[in-house]
Amino acid sequence: MLVIGSGGREHAIAWKIRQSKLVEKVFVAPGNGGTAEFNIPIKVDDVKALSEFAKENHCFTIVGPEAPLAAGIVDYFSKLSLPIFGPTKNAAMLETSKSFAKEFMKSHDIPTAKFGVFEDSQKAIEYSHTLDGKVAVKADGLAAGKGVFVCSSISEAEEAIKSILDKKAFGEAGKKVVVEERLDGTECSLMTICNGKNALAFGSAKDHKRAFDNDEGPNTGGMGAFSPTDDLDSKTTEEIMRRITLPTVRAANFHGFLFIGLMLTKNGPRVLEFNARLGDPETQAILPRLKSDFPAALLAMESNSNVELEWSSDYSCTVVMCSQGYPQTPETGDKISGIQRANRFDGVTVFHSGTQKRGEEYFTNGGRVLGVNGIGKSLPEAVEKAYSGVAMIRWNGEHHRKDIGRVA
Ligand code: AMP
Repeated sequence: MLVIGSGGREHAIAWKIRQSKLVEKVFVAPGNGGTAEFNIPIKVDDVKALSEFAKENHCFTIVGPEAPLAAGIVDYFSKLSLPIFGPTKNAAMLETSKSFAKEFMKSHDIPTAKFGVFEDSQKAIEYSHTLDGKVAVKADGLAAGKGVFVCSSISEAEEAIKSILDKKAFGEAGKKVVVEERLDGTECSLMTICNGKNALAFGSAKDHKRAFDNDEGPNTGGMGAFSPTDDLDSKTTEEIMRRITLPTVRAANFHGFLFIGLMLTKNGPRVLEFNARLGDPETQAILPRLKSDFPAALLAMESNSNVELEWSSDYSCTVVMCSQGYPQTPETGDKISGIQRANRFDGVTVFHSGTQKRGEEYFTNGGRVLGVNGIGKSLPEAVEKAYSGVAMIRWNGEHHRKDIGRVA
């Protein structure tokens, strides 16, 4: 199997795949320090070189990040009859264009916040005035998670609209703006595995986006996650699958992992966003609980066979350890100690993101450096385990949140 990507999500996927009886060999392109023995030096956007490697080595390919999906890697591989698990470029637009996703939901009756799409700031502002002061403003394209403004006043909404459309704060990604109703409720997410016709719920997880404790500081790619969450009981999950996932998967002929960000409102679940891939760090919390053979489940799903996943009843928590300066200007090149010791601790697994292996030593090589996972019979036990692992690992300037899995 060939795993494309270089984050903690891809390390967790490769780690899980290695437990499969079906898989002879795993490759990761380009990978990180944690996957060093499986790495091949091909960048995620070098679709041609990836396809040549996959052909030569008879690989079944899994795509981690959104960039190669947006570049059409699945279309390219499929034309060459190379097996790959992921959505086409068109289906991936559910993530890459917020206006496309919103129009898609509207035309297929999928519950989401009411909205308008605008290129003209004056018209966008006029529409925002119709939303009773409850407004969210979003740049249309990929903006590294920074293009969304959940506004607490009309003047904030006006400012956000002007910064996106007039001041071009997000360049081309802000050519259009989505202005939508701000929803109240509990936020959660559901990951699903899809084959164009059917979908399977693939675990729930909650991540912690802000950089500092008590949800303070700037947004990040994610500072930690725990799984499962109590927000999604089986009745709510069933409703989401029936009213949201299945109509989406069938209308978009979506293959791969569909990650659905939701607000559970008093009127039922509403879609906040789609991602056309697994979440990171959520995957690092979910996969350690999966007992089934992961590649076998993906292959069965692709051939439209019946798939049932078996999950451990344990809880799982992953704490992300970051380098100094993350998320603004992360420092790299610091020597990391204690990884092997933490990995030997019962119930702890260390997933690498921004690391580099030199000889037998590991060095920081990015903002989010490691995800330390703990497994336990209860959430507090899982949290305790993860932090025991974190306490064994050190480098200059390391920082992490102290409240992952301890706050809702
Ligand atoms: P998105 O990338 O669209 O999921 O937005 C990022 C975050 O902004 C979400 O995780 C929510 O916390 C928040 N958000 C987005 N849209 C809304 C909305 N309509 N109402 C309330 N919060 C929202």
